[in-house]
Formats: sequence, structure tokens, C-alpha cells
Amino acid sequence: MNRELSTVNVLQIDEPVLSLSKHHVESVMRTEEAIFSVFLGLIVGSFLNVCIHRLPKGESVVRPGSRCASCGLSIRWYDNIPVLGFLLLGGRCRGCGGRISWRYPTVEVLTGLLFLATVLRFGLDARSIFLLIFLCGLVVVTFIDLDHEIIPHAVTLPGIPLGLIASLITRDPSPRDAAAGTLVGAGLVYLIAVYAEAAFQRESMGGGDINLMAMIGAFLGWRQVFVSFFLAVAVGACLSLLLIATGVLSRKDRIPFGPFLALGAVVALFGGDGLIDWYWRLLR
Ligand SMILES: [Zn+2]
Repeated sequence: MNRELSTVNVLQIDEPVLSLSKHHVESVMRTEEAIFSVFLGLIVGSFLNVCIHRLPKGESVVRPGSRCASCGLSIRWYDNIPVLGFLLLGGRCRGCGGRISWRYPTVEVLTGLLFLATVLRFGLDARSIFLLIFLCGLVVVTFIDLDHEIIPHAVTLPGIPLGLIASLITRDPSPRDAAAGTLVGAGLVYLIAVYAEAAFQRESMGGGDINLMAMIGAFLGWRQVFVSFFLAVAVGACLSLLLIATGVLSRKDRIPFGPFLALGAVVALFGGDGLIDWYWRLLR
């Protein structure tokens, strides 16, 4: 009897009500996806911290577990919870009281926000999963380049074929576009490096930058790799001039270019189409 009644009820629902409830279900799913992506990003960000710390030393990123950088104490699982562990400890090691760098929660929050932005913008599908891996690579490259002025091949060399494989599976960008992006990205940095070296008699960009741009091109295609590069040059040049003018840096300091390329790629990924449209409208 009850079942019959509910069947009748469903059938009697009018079209607008149905579409409203469908919309409601979709928005609940979006909220769940958003929360899930932030938590996933925080946890993955915690692992990226390990990669940033250990990859330049050639250490395993799996073993041993996390340790305090000053006293070597093994960090307990509950102190290792992203962001929360840092806040509960007041930013200090439980063993020696040494300061834990702000870098750790920063990388975790940054990764959480990138995951959230990706899932909100592109949904949860195969392309998004490839993009999340790509963004993780950019985070690792950025912080290693800031610390050590190197762009680790361990990230970029697997990243290039992964981007090309992603294009074969997702067709966004198309495989041809991804291949062109790889060549354009590498070529742009190579040309600038050769000219800059001739003009300024010093090395400005290295092989690491070439590989990074090839990876960006493989994931984003040739148009967005152009956008990434010009944004990186513009922001990098402005910030360098500002830092030199204010005396924070001297003219001789080498400013790592990887973080600017990574920033350019993130802006291109989320806003590149809009920037290209805006630019063409300016020209017309
Ligand atoms: Zn310690």
C-alpha cells in the first residue's frame, strides 16, 4: 500500500519540481566533491612537503616516516595531520621545541586550494586527475627551485610523457596540440636562454627550465604554453625590478625562474582562454 502511494506521488511531481530537485542533488554533489577535493589536497600537500624536502637530497620519499628537521624525532601520526598538527603544536617540535617551518602548512593549504579550484572548474573526471598530478608537479618544482635553484628532473622528465599520454586519453588538449606544446615550450625557453646569454654574458635559464616548459606544454597545449611563458616573463621581470629597486636583492642575485613559470601555467590553466580572447580584442 505504502509503495503504491509513493509511486503515485513521484508520478504526480510536476516538471519544474523535478528539475529543481535535480539541481539540488547536483549542488549537494558539488559541495561533497568540493569538501573531498580540499581534504585530498591537504593530504597530498603533506606528501609534497616530503618530496620537496627529500628529492634534492636524493632520498626516498616513502621511507623512513617524517622526522623533525632539527632533532630527528619521528613525527607521530596525529602531529602529522595536515595544518591541524602544525596549529596544535604551535609550530614547534614536540621533542626539541625547534620551530617547524611555515612552509609545511603553506604547501598543504596551497595544494588544497589548487585541488578545490580544479574540481570546481573542471569537475571530477580523467582530465582533472591528470591536471591534479600536473599541479602537484608544479608545487614541488616551485619550492625546490626557491630553495636550491634547481628544477628536479625527477618531476619534469616523467611529467612530459605523462602529459602526452593524458592527451591521448582525454583529447583535451588534442595529442597533436600537446606535442606542439612540448616543442613550443622547450623552444621558447631555449631561444630566450641563448639570446640572454649572448646579451648579458651569463646564464639566465637552464635545462631545468626547458624541461619544465616542455612539461607545461604537454599538459596545456601550445596556446597556453605561450600564455604561461609571457605571464612568467612579465611577472618575473616586474618582481625582479621591484626587489632590486627596494634593495632586497642585488643585481647579481640569480632569481629562480621556475616558480614564475609554474605560476604562469596555473593562471593559463584557469584563465588562459579569457586572456587570449582579451588580447585578440585589444589587437582588433
Ligand atoms: Zn625536534
